[in-house]
Amino acid sequence: MKITVDGVKRFYTIENREFAAVDNVSLEIPDNCIFGIIGKSGVGKSTLVRLISLLEKPNEGKILFGDERVDNLSGRTLIEKRRRIGMIFQNFNLFFSRNAFANVAYPLELEKMSRDKINSRVSELLNLVGLSERAKSPISALSGGQRQRVAIARALANNPDILFCDEATSALDPQTTHSILRLIRQIRQEMNLTVVMVTHQMEVVRDACDFVAVLDEGRVVEQGRVSDVFSSPKSKVTRELLSHIDLTEREAEENGGGDADRESPLPMVKRDGTYILYFAGDQTEQPLLCRAAKQFDVDFNIRGGGIQHLVEKDVGMLVVDIIGDKGEVNKTVQFLKDKGVGVESTVEERESNGI
Ligand code: ADP
Ligand code: MG
Repeated sequence: MKITVDGVKRFYTIENREFAAVDNVSLEIPDNCIFGIIGKSGVGKSTLVRLISLLEKPNEGKILFGDERVDNLSGRTLIEKRRRIGMIFQNFNLFFSRNAFANVAYPLELEKMSRDKINSRVSELLNLVGLSERAKSPISALSGGQRQRVAIARALANNPDILFCDEATSALDPQTTHSILRLIRQIRQEMNLTVVMVTHQMEVVRDACDFVAVLDEGRVVEQGRVSDVFSSPKSKVTRELLSHIDLTEREAEENGGGDADRESPLPMVKRDGTYILYFAGDQTEQPLLCRAAKQFDVDFNIRGGGIQHLVEKDVGMLVVDIIGDKGEVNKTVQFLKDKGVGVESTVEERESNGI
């Protein structure tokens, strides 16, 4: 199901002051993909999710599922439409009075499905999320990852068209996060779902999403294919989120985990002459730095880096000092940009702002 968000605003009033928690947001969320919405805490992600999932109404703008306008629905049609939407959250929102099986059965009971049908559907769902053995377990006996699997099974019970994940992996350790993201990707493919994944972690975007929108203060500051945003981030917010990304987490997991001490975030070096270079796809193979060092009177000092394995392709990030006089450094930066490398200074460029 394709989702269109068109000029949506949502105002709240706090202490007699009205402010826009979601401020003129427009998004095109393609059918059958995983669409990430990333931003720091408090920028309006959950509010936006409540609007798109029809839990709240926007004050302005439109929301469409496919070609159908849905933000103005009410009564029976709204309830019907909401059944086509599954949601999972950071804190799972499960019933502790029910075991795993009965949690998944809950939405089917609301639908007044027969007991036999419920039994077979719930078994199928628990099997899908890898929890067949734990059907009778109380929620309190399950790990965080297992609880999220129950929540996923419950969210999928009514065969939704759209699955919203609001910080679904934020309470989980990196290994469990990967296994949940892998499950969501697998389910998305098998069930023809559109998944909207809200997170404050770039790792989640890297490991699961096809597209991403970056939110700041209620506005979309950047959106596009994950590979494009990773290889040439345009907004300051995006660059900052990228600079905190963990470069080695995924390898740690693939080597069987347990090596968490090796993990080190990309250093955010705030120094003149230090740059973050982003290489997309086959550029990662090209000896561009050697060529630049031969062509211009500069030296490179490599501080750190790694390859980000995105869903679509690989993007390399390298933190380097470019040492030389200003003119040569500028020529080098231009050379790299001309070759399609994303080049970002780690310090804000004061001169260009005239400050
Ligand atoms: P995020 O999910 O990105 O952390 P939220 O969407 O939860 O952000 O919140 C965005 C802003 O809107 C915050 O300043 C928050 O305090 C405010 N806000 C969220 N919900 C309400 C509400 N129901 N009433 C008033 N303010 C709210
Ligand atoms: Mg939130």
